[in-house]
Amino acid sequence: MATQLDNDPVLETPVLIIGSSMVGMTLSALLAKHGIADCLTIEKHSSTAIHPRAALFHPRTMQIYRELGLYEAMKAESYKHYDELAGLYAVETLAAQDFGTWMKDINEGLEDISPTPRMFLTQQMFEPLLREHATTHGARLQFSTELVDFQQDAEGVMATIRDIETGAEQRVRAKYMIACDGNRSFDSVTIYFRADLSRFVEGRYNGVIYVNNDEIRGFFRLDKTGREGFLVVNTAGKQGTEESRHPGKDITNERASEILRAAIGADVDFEITLLSPWRAVCDVAERFQVDRVLLAGDAAHTVTPHGGFGGNTGIQDAHNLAWKLALVLQGKAGLELISTYEAERWPVATKTVNQVFERYIVRTAPELQTEDLEMEEEIPEPWLELGYQYHSRALTTTSLPNGLVATDPSTSKAQAGTMARHALLWTTNSKADEGGNWESTKPRPIADFLGHGYVLLCGHKAVDWVRAGRSINRRSKSEGELLPELSVHRLSPAIAKKAFYEKYQMTPQGCVLIRPDGFVAWQDGAAKEHDAQGAWALQPEDKLRDVLESILCFTPAKSGFSGQESVKSKL
Ligand SMILES: Cc1cc2nc3c(=O)[nH]c(=O)nc-3n(C[C@H](O)[C@H](O)[C@H](O)COP(=O)(O)OP(=O)(O)OC[C@H]3O[C@@H](n4cnc5c(N)ncnc54)[C@H](O)[C@@H]3O)c2cc1C
Repeated sequence: MATQLDNDPVLETPVLIIGSSMVGMTLSALLAKHGIADCLTIEKHSSTAIHPRAALFHPRTMQIYRELGLYEAMKAESYKHYDELAGLYAVETLAAQDFGTWMKDINEGLEDISPTPRMFLTQQMFEPLLREHATTHGARLQFSTELVDFQQDAEGVMATIRDIETGAEQRVRAKYMIACDGNRSFDSVTIYFRADLSRFVEGRYNGVIYVNNDEIRGFFRLDKTGREGFLVVNTAGKQGTEESRHPGKDITNERASEILRAAIGADVDFEITLLSPWRAVCDVAERFQVDRVLLAGDAAHTVTPHGGFGGNTGIQDAHNLAWKLALVLQGKAGLELISTYEAERWPVATKTVNQVFERYIVRTAPELQTEDLEMEEEIPEPWLELGYQYHSRALTTTSLPNGLVATDPSTSKAQAGTMARHALLWTTNSKADEGGNWESTKPRPIADFLGHGYVLLCGHKAVDWVRAGRSINRRSKSEGELLPELSVHRLSPAIAKKAFYEKYQMTPQGCVLIRPDGFVAWQDGAAKEHDAQGAWALQPEDKLRDVLESILCFTPAKSGFSGQESVKSKL
């Protein structure tokens, strides 16, 4: 007998997103920006985050929100609560003298490599801004709604969702389903409390303060007044004992008070408002995609909070996936483009997990370090945040060593697979170029040109590439071709005097093709290629079309790409 549900109309959506926290909402906002506004995001809670949790936003993440138009609002909110120059410190107790600094000023040295800084903004403060932005731009967010079950077939996913308040169920048919539904279990514990810690903090610390003493290993995150924040407890009690590894297990207010007092190191009045146990896990899912279902954020990889990589990595997953989904759904790329999400993000997630694991052990759980514990050597923060690299068929063959996942972003030379390096650009006035009347506009950071579609950045003598790009666009419009529109820019001659060509290892006759997520897809030194007889082997337009068809997965892959490291469960 058919159930009521079988007779109900099925709700159709191109993409169903499960979980409307940082990652799910960012994905829905990015999809809306790329023209896929009618996707549905469901969230079992009735509102956005009610606890601060994530707060440290990395420069790459801030580039993504700058692209979305949220940067100024986030900055204004952040600086109300945190210092621009907040740092990461190490102390024995809050009341004692500091004995170490992991990062004195979170933004030192970033100016040359990123248009955006790191900043602190709690999830609780940030998510309402993101929600407002996403819905204003057409994203459909449905709170108090949970995923009950789903099946997939070759064409898509059929899911059942339930309204938690009324119990009403609804079937949803989607072409893709993205699980951004997080990851939960218990081991560490966050102690949320009210106290006035201003006398220990003002003019001294702000940001993250790692605490390491006989009673507790973990960290405080306090705002600049010292009146808002929490204490994360990773291990507590006698180091090396089994109990010390499970500080959240059966924790009482009394025990939490002892730990908090030991972390403060002075007699201070406080009121504990919440004990929130969670599991200190550093792990990566074996796969990020099974046909029409994909994982992003904590659902795909989980790390401890050390260095604030959890949410940032998830947001960057969403950024990698959104434009690929949009192009495939719009018929402007082959289906295989979606598979490059796992090929690109899995190695980055694995590297991040291994790096965070090292930070976790060294900063707050030294007693877990044994001789046979495998740990990577720590690499600097900017390498992980801005220097990670992709290897997949959504890029042309790269000169990067295969298997290299992260390197110093300040030495990158715009090879395929690297992030387009921060630089100021002088481009020509587009109206003047056909007449040869080249005028410099004001310099703008390269980030201003990125984020919407493919960008073809041509040297100031690269007339052939400019023509090739424009001709592909013209034909696409008139003949209904499937290639996405290229945004073609020619550098102003003034740039020749600047460091840009050197930074991008590009000639004035060459060009660089940058993907919608700001990664270099291809770069060419000169417009035409000679064969052995000196004839033009491939005209620029044919060459460019060849490249685009290959990286958009319209033509068969030229070589196989895969992840580099085996998945390791760390804890
Ligand atoms: C104390 C602490 C401090 C941290 N600090 C930082 C930091 O500074 N920077 C940083 O980047 N990260 C930090 N993190 C990590 C960060 O909080 C997570 O990585 C981030 O929240 C993951 O986001 P997500 O959207 O993937 O998952 P979640 O935030 O877990 O969201 C998943 C959502 O899915 C919903 N959901 C689950 N199942 C269903 C279902 N069946 N139907 C509908 N909805 C469902 C859940 O209700 C939830 O809202 C910190 C974590 C902790 C614990």
